[in-house]
Amino acid sequence: MATLRLPASKVLRQLCCLRGGRAPARYFQTENHHSARLETSSAKTLMDIGTRRIFTSDHDIFRQSVKKFFQDAVVPNHGEWEKAGQVSREVWEKAGQQGFLGVNIAEEHGGIGGDLFSTAIVWEEQMYANCSGPGFSLHSDIVMPYIANYGTKEQIERFIPEMTAGRCIGAIAMTEPGAGSDLQGVRTFAKKDGSDWILNGSKVFITNGWMCDVVIVVAVTNREAHSPAHGISLFLVENGMKGFIKGRKLEKIGLKAQDTAEMFFEDVRLPASALLGQENKGFYYLMAELPQERLAIADMAIASCEFMFEETRNYVKQRKAFGKTIAHLQTVQHKLAELKTQICIGRTFLDSCLHLHSGKRLDSSTASMAKYWASDLQNSVATQCVQLHGGWGYMWEYPIAKSFVDARVQPIYGGTNEIMKELIARDIVSDK
Ligand SMILES: Cc1cc2nc3c(=O)[nH]c(=O)nc-3n(C[C@H](O)[C@H](O)[C@H](O)COP(=O)(O)OP(=O)(O)OC[C@H]3O[C@@H](n4cnc5c(N)ncnc54)[C@H](O)[C@@H]3O)c2cc1C
Repeated sequence: MATLRLPASKVLRQLCCLRGGRAPARYFQTENHHSARLETSSAKTLMDIGTRRIFTSDHDIFRQSVKKFFQDAVVPNHGEWEKAGQVSREVWEKAGQQGFLGVNIAEEHGGIGGDLFSTAIVWEEQMYANCSGPGFSLHSDIVMPYIANYGTKEQIERFIPEMTAGRCIGAIAMTEPGAGSDLQGVRTFAKKDGSDWILNGSKVFITNGWMCDVVIVVAVTNREAHSPAHGISLFLVENGMKGFIKGRKLEKIGLKAQDTAEMFFEDVRLPASALLGQENKGFYYLMAELPQERLAIADMAIASCEFMFEETRNYVKQRKAFGKTIAHLQTVQHKLAELKTQICIGRTFLDSCLHLHSGKRLDSSTASMAKYWASDLQNSVATQCVQLHGGWGYMWEYPIAKSFVDARVQPIYGGTNEIMKELIARDIVSDK
């Protein structure tokens, strides 16, 4: 595969200033430096650029560029992609050319080398554009970290630069028709054959599953292990390998432009070099990486709340009933007051989680709290904002309708919210 050459754009120069998370770490310590940055509760809108103590003016410039990308390259095409059930390959490559993929992956591995806050800007701006189609966050912040953290030098060199360029799309396949919450129930099996592996099984609900060029497959490699967790490994399976079959693009009630697919593996012969990390260590890698997935879902949930609130604020200020705008009604005003308060409280917790994770201090239980609470809030805000739109809120042509259906899956994937409560509760009652 060719080596990625990124343009020396202004955006990338900005990102150079943001590398390694060093700069943001000082923000919570030097209050004066940040006194000029408003928190969202005091800003004109919940999506204002230049707010929140975790960010700097360099992040603001980066955010402007990401916002422009979503407005120019994604929003105008999203309706078509919703009908097609997938986005174009072109949008992936455009995102790659502009440095918006693999933002938080180290430069020496072929990523952009930006900090966690920069990649969070990409998550948030996608929600502010209300365009759930491109599965960028899964690709950049869920799939790429597995390869960067556990891959061999050859695997990193082969995949990371191409993924940063948007020429290679990534997916991860854990869930099976009979195993979702209980990952230890995975049946997909990889059997050793000399130095190769023979992979058999099937996966379902895989994001980017139709378009992906590489998928990390979770498979059992030791059926005799003393617990299933000790017998699971990860494999890099590439599009076009004999026996790797992509099934249906699944028809969903939301995330209409995102390609979610089934996968089948029928005697797929994998070379030893397809094993990602060590044999039988897959379950531990999953446990280590899932908090970042949950943080991304949570931050996107709060960003979606911020978007829905502003949509609704604008709507009630222009919609008339009984001779006045409905924003004049006290019940509507109180509803907006409640929504804004809840969203701002959520934002404060999420910014704290982002700050913790940028210093590698976000534990699994706290990430689970963020995921469960923020995604539940997102659904509550969606329901109430649709209500404030009346019948128009139920019409697809109104953005709030799309936000409403897209919100529904958030408490389900990335570990259901019931499982999040299990993880939080286990920590609470543990004697350790
Ligand atoms: C749009 C979409 C995209 C997805 N993308 C991916 C992807 O890219 N890769 C991937 O691997 N998977 C993906 N998934 C799968 C997703 O992670 C699973 O659907 C999820 O983990 C739940 O598993 P399940 O559907 O088998 O539900 P089940 O595990 O069957 O759960 C059914 C219900 O039982 C509850 N339940 C189960 N166990 C417990 C328990 N111990 N305590 C309390 N309640 C429990 C659950 O909370 C849930 O309410 C995606 C799913 C969707 C819908």
